[in-house]
Amino acid sequence: MEKFMQELQQMWEKVQSKMQNYVSAVVFDLWIARLEPLEVVDNNTLLLAASSNLVKTRVMENYTHNLTECIHEVFGEYMNFRILDKDEQEQYFSKSNPQTPTKQVVQADKSQFNPKFTFNNFVVGKSNQFCYAAAHAVAENPGTKFNPLFIYSGVGLGKTHLMHAIGNYLTEYSPHLNIKYVTCEKFMNEYIESLGVTESGKEKAITEFREKYRNVDVLMIDDIQFIANKNATKEEFFHTFNDLYQSNKQIIITSDRSPAEIDVEDRLKTRFSCGLIQDMQIPDFETRMAILKKKAQIERFYLDDDVLNFIAEKPFTNIREMEGALSKVFFFATLMGKKTADMDDAREAFKEDMIQHEEKATPENIIKIVCEYFGISQNEITGKKKSKEIVEPRMIAIYLIDDMLDIPLVTIGKLFGGRDHTTIMHSRDKIGEQIKKDNKLSAIINDLKTKINK
Ligand code: ADP
Ligand code: MG
Repeated sequence: MEKFMQELQQMWEKVQSKMQNYVSAVVFDLWIARLEPLEVVDNNTLLLAASSNLVKTRVMENYTHNLTECIHEVFGEYMNFRILDKDEQEQYFSKSNPQTPTKQVVQADKSQFNPKFTFNNFVVGKSNQFCYAAAHAVAENPGTKFNPLFIYSGVGLGKTHLMHAIGNYLTEYSPHLNIKYVTCEKFMNEYIESLGVTESGKEKAITEFREKYRNVDVLMIDDIQFIANKNATKEEFFHTFNDLYQSNKQIIITSDRSPAEIDVEDRLKTRFSCGLIQDMQIPDFETRMAILKKKAQIERFYLDDDVLNFIAEKPFTNIREMEGALSKVFFFATLMGKKTADMDDAREAFKEDMIQHEEKATPENIIKIVCEYFGISQNEITGKKKSKEIVEPRMIAIYLIDDMLDIPLVTIGKLFGGRDHTTIMHSRDKIGEQIKKDNKLSAIINDLKTKINK
């Protein structure tokens, strides 16, 4: 018991310290510091006790997104959380007796895979059908077809989900196989740790590291792009890769960009490219709608169809954020004591976002952030230069202003040195079209939006 609580407490402290990067000290003391960890249930839900019902409400309304991120960083990408208000805590303490010392925090490797990330729960559409098919084929016959399988897409478009789906499938249908899932970050940290062991134990530490990653039938490395600039790790990974590849072991890699765009040597790029490279795009409206329905069904959220429509129509470029919006709307309904969320709840949930935008984002601010991002001056971006280095950031700034703010095109034209509104429209549409096809651009747009909203 002691050990379990200590471990949980330590992990929670890490979450809290990460949260301090996102919220002000006042907000932290007022809301975040008033949550206490209780336990992890079902292997993937962290229960938190709120010191008052208002604390629960405020945190759910305003900090769900940040808190989710921080919890993922500390507990792993598949950990959810649930905040219990006073009534719920009473129920919790009367039902389960937390004094019983049988619980475990996270059964680390026993469940490498999020049980919810299955093929069944993955909605297939035009944007991801080839990736889905390839992932499924690999799950059925690992090490034979498509080796390595390299999946890439913008953030939040289902790479990790598909990887876990392969893992869940293999665990069920080929339980004899030794499967290892690791994020690139963890791979790096473990390797560097093994290098840091004192001289006497060093050899053993490195051997252990190698055994762990080379004695497997299937190796999954998530978010490989983080390997760029990490020379020692790149070298180690290169050898791991060759070892596994030569003995026909399956390798699966994900990345937020194509092999060509990752900053690694050609010999690694060549390795990445010797199997199948497949990308995923932002899902279209119908697929987004189907994903929302699926999610609502899994989480037992009840929402009117027009609410689902309303959310699916929003220009989300990240499914995780779209799912966040869905939970938020449902949460607003439960606050009002309703079983099913309707349009009133949707408007209420999105109202805050709009107010926040109005407060923070201004066209001037967007122009400034885009200029800083691309390292160009404000005169250049609003001026007449036609070189590619300037034109693209200019169109991106125009796109963002139009997308994030409610400003007439004519006014935007004025901000950009008196350009005609049809020119503005053209820039906007061009970027809008390109995002659908170009993952790198959509990642840039996401990045900029985050910066602008901060
Ligand atoms: P990535 O690894 O590409 O950043 P994730 O795999 O973590 O993205 O996906 C983010 C969220 O979106 C997850 O909750 C995942 O279940 C969901 N998601 C993404 N694509 C789909 C899909 N096609 N069907 C169902 N859920 C999806
Ligand atoms: Mg991922």
